Amino acid sequence: MDAKNYVETVLEDVKRRNPGETEFHNAVAEVLHSLTPVFEKRKDLMDAAILERIVEPERAISFRVPWMDDAGKIHVNRGFRVQFNGAIGPYKGGLRFHPSVNQSIIKFLGFEQIFKNSLTGLPMGGGKGGSDFDPKGKSDAEVMRFCQSFMTELYKHIGPDVDVPAGDIGVGGREIGYMYGMYRKLSNSSSQGVLTGKGLTYGGSLGRTPATGYGLLYFTSEMLADKGESFKGKTVAISGSGNVATYAIEKAQQMGAKVVTCSDSSGYIYCKDGVDLQAVKQIKEVERLRIKEYVNRCGGEYFEGCANIWDVKCDVALPCATQNELDLAAAQKLIQNGVKYVVEGANMPCSLDAMKAFQDAGVYFGPAKAANAGGVACSGLEMTQNALRLSWSFEEVDEKLQNIMKNIFKSAKKSAEEYGYKDNLVVGANIAGFMKVATAMMGQGLI
Ligand code: GLU
Repeated sequence: MDAKNYVETVLEDVKRRNPGETEFHNAVAEVLHSLTPVFEKRKDLMDAAILERIVEPERAISFRVPWMDDAGKIHVNRGFRVQFNGAIGPYKGGLRFHPSVNQSIIKFLGFEQIFKNSLTGLPMGGGKGGSDFDPKGKSDAEVMRFCQSFMTELYKHIGPDVDVPAGDIGVGGREIGYMYGMYRKLSNSSSQGVLTGKGLTYGGSLGRTPATGYGLLYFTSEMLADKGESFKGKTVAISGSGNVATYAIEKAQQMGAKVVTCSDSSGYIYCKDGVDLQAVKQIKEVERLRIKEYVNRCGGEYFEGCANIWDVKCDVALPCATQNELDLAAAQKLIQNGVKYVVEGANMPCSLDAMKAFQDAGVYFGPAKAANAGGVACSGLEMTQNALRLSWSFEEVDEKLQNIMKNIFKSAKKSAEEYGYKDNLVVGANIAGFMKVATAMMGQGLI
């Protein structure tokens, strides 16, 4: 069988065996298609059924999470953990709490995580988990009860050398703290390396909170430098106002750019002279209000819904909200308005056709699994500090993060060039991430 047929056959099997899991199908299709040139050269990987194995999680669990609200009413949510691939290290990946969470979304994210983690150069396998629990509007006590109930099942499946969850959408320092407390109690062990994104007084790492946003900007700077440019004087559009977006705005401003937008799930703001980050942090992080509140305090314009956020004129667009937030129509608008760089801060925020439109139009495109790997990279650094039982300064962590992001850019660009895809960081990141995992799987025999 030739490489193209091999890839198509595996893809058909994935669709047949995972009916209705559209997000997972799309993620697999995107990666597999770009791996075709690898299989043209490496028939041995085909004979070893590497693709058939890599698209099947090593283990996927789903479990009941019962909890009681403040009024005494009982609720039942569904919890997930997918341990996708452990060939290069313990499963590693975040937990997402959001009503949209289902098996397909967790599998899509877990699959992406395999390659993202591999790209960091650190020994971490791929995994992901979460729940369809909606933290929006819940009291602190309700969130704590939910996290504790979630951990009463999850603790059986994780450990510093087994599987190391962290945060994602809806899971930040507060939730990780509650889950770590419950893990410690249930396991009668203080293994700090079991979760990352912890508080600084119990094993957390300086620099972990801003790492995804900062890392995104370090990666994008490499792309700009590759074209002889820098962030100085650039207009940047950013979506989202959570952990990734907030620190992306911060670093973009430090690098001399003007950030004109940010958003939440209700709508977006446009500030032609630049967003006031302190106000955004106060509204979203401290007071946990809607972004709409920003215009009452600082002016600018508010638009209900996020459909038109990408109508804005900018040099660099950084989608940092959620998957599939930027579709073909939005991509065409950005292209028309002269965007030069689009780099993904969220996981797969651009639809497949949007991504293709950018590439066809010569927009330099940075894919999530390379560009937003700073968060998990810093998680890897947190695991190392926990294993060594020491903590590094912010400067040490940040310097390591900068090097990791530079190396990810270099290896994605080099792999793309090696296979004749100049400047195609999508193909480059997929190939570079895949080769390390495939080599490890080959070395470990049929497992
Ligand atoms: N949720 C983040 C991601 O998508 C971080 C995962 C982690 O630190 O394990 O990469």
